[in-house]
Amino acid sequence: MAEGRVMKAVSGFYYVKSSENIFQCRGRGVFRKQNITPLVGDFVEFEGDHPEEGYIHAIKPRRNELVRPPVANVDQAIIVSSAAMPDFNPLLLDRFLVLIESKEIKPLIFITKKDLLAEPELETIAKYQTLYEEIGYPIELVSSIELDNPDHLRRYFTNQVSVIAGQSGVGKSSLLNAVNPSLELKTDDISQSLGRGKHTTRHVELLEAGGGLVADTPGFSTLDFSDITTKELGDCFPEIAERQADCKFRGCLHNKEPNCAVKQAVADGQMAEIRYHHYLRFLDEINSRKPRY
Ligand code: GDP
Ligand code: ZN
Repeated sequence: MAEGRVMKAVSGFYYVKSSENIFQCRGRGVFRKQNITPLVGDFVEFEGDHPEEGYIHAIKPRRNELVRPPVANVDQAIIVSSAAMPDFNPLLLDRFLVLIESKEIKPLIFITKKDLLAEPELETIAKYQTLYEEIGYPIELVSSIELDNPDHLRRYFTNQVSVIAGQSGVGKSSLLNAVNPSLELKTDDISQSLGRGKHTTRHVELLEAGGGLVADTPGFSTLDFSDITTKELGDCFPEIAERQADCKFRGCLHNKEPNCAVKQAVADGQMAEIRYHHYLRFLDEINSRKPRY
């Protein structure tokens, strides 16, 4: 029995990479009965006597798994947000951060289209960079068309399995092409970008970029918080998570409660007001969600 990693899944076939070779495998019938599907990213045991007639026998325990895209054992999510065209959107960035934190995946932030900024706008973006850095998030301002230091960028991908997240048109495909020009992903502001137009085939693939792997379909496309409870929301903001033990009330939601360490931190300028406002907005969104039975 050989061991390898599922790199691609296309209509019932799994492409398993094992010591630089790719084996086309089917899943064992018993997986179907147990309602288990091998996922891209899975480490598997397979029978690989023939490169085109392999069988996956066992799936190793997963560290995590995403539904969209269906990928297992993800190390990090790279949020791509453009500095301009479309305008930098901190609310959307925080929304992605919360969704990624809720899956206990490490987020990184790439702000693209640096080349489109003039001096005053660069200053505004620099302030956001400082804000997110202080929270502890790695953040980079880049231009994919005039890449200053490709090796610096590539290092973020090395030995990592990444998913890319971000609204369409922010430059996700362009960024991956900058990291690995041989990918030749189509870029466009209207259609045909990373992952779009491919959904009908339910094809998912891990691409090689910068000495790591990247899912070819963007993640976190549904931006609602249907899986997150009000209690969990605070844990998805690191600067709230680290302070909430100091709130007077256990289970404090940092909203109307007295003696709240989080509100105090905002009042003292220790926590960014914009982040707190986004927290309250998301809290309200979760609270007003219809109960599901
Ligand atoms: P995606 O939908 O997120 O994959 O975005 P694309 O990579 O398709 O890029 C959308 C548009 O933005 C394309 O017209 C790109 O050429 C353009 N673009 C992407 N990155 C940059 C950048 O760093 N600077 C500039 N000026 N344009 C960019
Ligand atoms: Zn509180």
